[in-house]
Amino acid sequence: MEERREKNMSKTIIITGASKGIGKEMAQNLAKDGYQIIANYNKSEKEAIELQKQNKNIDIFRADVSKREECQKLVKYAIEKYKKIDVLINNAGISKAGLFTDLNDTEWEEIIKTNLFSAFYMSQETLKYMIKEKDGCIINISSVWGLVGASCEVAYSISKAGIDGMTKGLAKEVGPSNIRVNSIAPGMIETEMISDLTEEDKKQIKEEIPLRKIGKPVDIYKTAKWLIEDEYTTGQIISPNGGWIII
Ligand code: NAP
Repeated sequence: MEERREKNMSKTIIITGASKGIGKEMAQNLAKDGYQIIANYNKSEKEAIELQKQNKNIDIFRADVSKREECQKLVKYAIEKYKKIDVLINNAGISKAGLFTDLNDTEWEEIIKTNLFSAFYMSQETLKYMIKEKDGCIINISSVWGLVGASCEVAYSISKAGIDGMTKGLAKEVGPSNIRVNSIAPGMIETEMISDLTEEDKKQIKEEIPLRKIGKPVDIYKTAKWLIEDEYTTGQIISPNGGWIII
């Protein structure tokens, strides 16, 4: 155990959108496992500062990852301070419910840029260094909605299906450089993202889930940790969802 923690201490992980929910849980637990975390945030500075105080292995950096220049600053900071990036977790994301026919260009752009362009920018900027190292691991947080589509969340579904497409293509392209790329496609996870749901909505959803429960951010951390430590899985979409979606 101690030996593994020492080995992890030399590994640097960037997690985008780590001020809340799934990203925060991954940052807290991976830091406890001994990894050096660069926890990215955008609007939630107070939460990010609180997170940093919890563990000396957590560093924080503000960047709006829907913008190329800010992704460049985040990656530059990580490289200058820690010399390499071993793992990139593209987790930042937003969702917005509404009819497809009502979706305006601004909302469409915000969802696609935050959820999909961010993964494109961050992966491209980080790969420059991973390819030189001939080592790396990219984990894209997509969603079951990317796999099966969600009514009234069409833009979100497109963004997540796009991420999964990127995972598959990129895994083939950078595999020869010993870089693994995988997606985690969570089912319903208890975070602020699902705060619009009523207790009655959640009760109904639980009845549709074979394991009869909504997931917790820690469930996604466990999948991420497995993917980080694994050495032979690439191009896969792993979906911790309680059996809600089985394909
Ligand atoms: P959350 O609690 O709402 O947290 C979202 C995080 O994304 C926040 O830390 C937020 O940071 C960050 N973020 C948003 N826009 C950003 C930007 N432009 N730049 C940098 N960071 C940004 O959501 P969550 O449930 O943890 O979701 C995390 C990921 O899991 C998302 O990609 C989501 O689509 C996916 N997912 C969630 C569920 C679920 O049921 N919860 C299911 C499937 C997939 P700031 O507040 O600092 O801006």
